[in-house]
Amino acid sequence: MKSSFKIGSVMGIPVKLHITFLLILPVFALVFSTNEAPFGFAGTEPLILNYALSLLTTILLFVCILLHELGHSYIAKSYGVEIRDITLLLFGGVSSMEEIPRVPSQELRMAFAGPLVSLVIGAMLLGANYIVTSSVPGYAGTSIWQMFYILGSINILLGLFNLLPAFPMDGGRLLRAWYAKRMSYIKATHYAASFGKMFAFLMGILGLLIPNPWLILIAFFVYIGASEEDKSTTISILLEKYSVREIMTEDVVSVPPDITVEELAKFMFEHKHLGYPVIQGNSLKGIVTFTDIRNILPHDRFATLVSDIMTRDIISVSPEDTASDAFKVMTTNNIGRLLVVSGDELAGILSRSDLMRTMMLLNE
Ligand SMILES: [Zn+2]
Repeated sequence: MKSSFKIGSVMGIPVKLHITFLLILPVFALVFSTNEAPFGFAGTEPLILNYALSLLTTILLFVCILLHELGHSYIAKSYGVEIRDITLLLFGGVSSMEEIPRVPSQELRMAFAGPLVSLVIGAMLLGANYIVTSSVPGYAGTSIWQMFYILGSINILLGLFNLLPAFPMDGGRLLRAWYAKRMSYIKATHYAASFGKMFAFLMGILGLLIPNPWLILIAFFVYIGASEEDKSTTISILLEKYSVREIMTEDVVSVPPDITVEELAKFMFEHKHLGYPVIQGNSLKGIVTFTDIRNILPHDRFATLVSDIMTRDIISVSPEDTASDAFKVMTTNNIGRLLVVSGDELAGILSRSDLMRTMMLLNE
């Protein structure tokens, strides 16, 4: 299912909206329209003006979040990092980058740029509001004042929140960069993640004591983010040293496209794998899995050929790619095995267990 769609691009970076964003949009607008001043427009007459202002504030809020992400992207681009896209979702924005620089001073600037943008926008909005309030009588009661006040305050909060020294917040990256100047990148990530987990733990306890369910929820989110960052960084750094060719399996059991599904089912039963490349002559035509067979009714299996049910869109890697790249392809596409293709010929197959085995050996 397509969970996000493109709405345009800025600085050559595609900007996407995630479906969760569409869910949160009316919720935010509703909160703004029912909250009392200064954090909402409740009581604004006519009602349509209240709704319009609430919606406008929500949209501008997400524009500010986009600007925060663009802050990160702008610095990243200046270091030659490719930004695939920026997605706006439920709790803010995410920039998906090709590779975060492992140079501490670069990561430091990149991580700081986002919160800096939020803090500057916040300070400008609140500052401008303050100046106008003190010179224009009656302005403090107007809807425009409220809108500036809401957006200014949220931007300041957003900037500060992102500076909390824990993954997945920007502050976690700042902390790692600080450690990385003093030790290896893996160790630095591990220290920063441990700090983040401890921080999340304390936040969770505070959430229970106050009690505040939001704080507990954020604590969970920070804890998981820290563990994920630690794990994925370690994996990708360890696997970077190897090429796909070095760890793939070269003897691949394949099937021809012109056998029937019935024959394929028997073949699978004998060979015990659940997925096979389909090969004709020397060239790779597709991939066929147990799920493809299951979709065919038993009495149709004698008349249906492998070529009718195989997947032709193959997600593959090249033997020269790094094992770390292959791992990323597997995780983003949520697949357990990748075909290794050179030209249009199958060079081998790489499974998640091949990667895990390599990881285990490396960790010894
Ligand atoms: Zn950020």
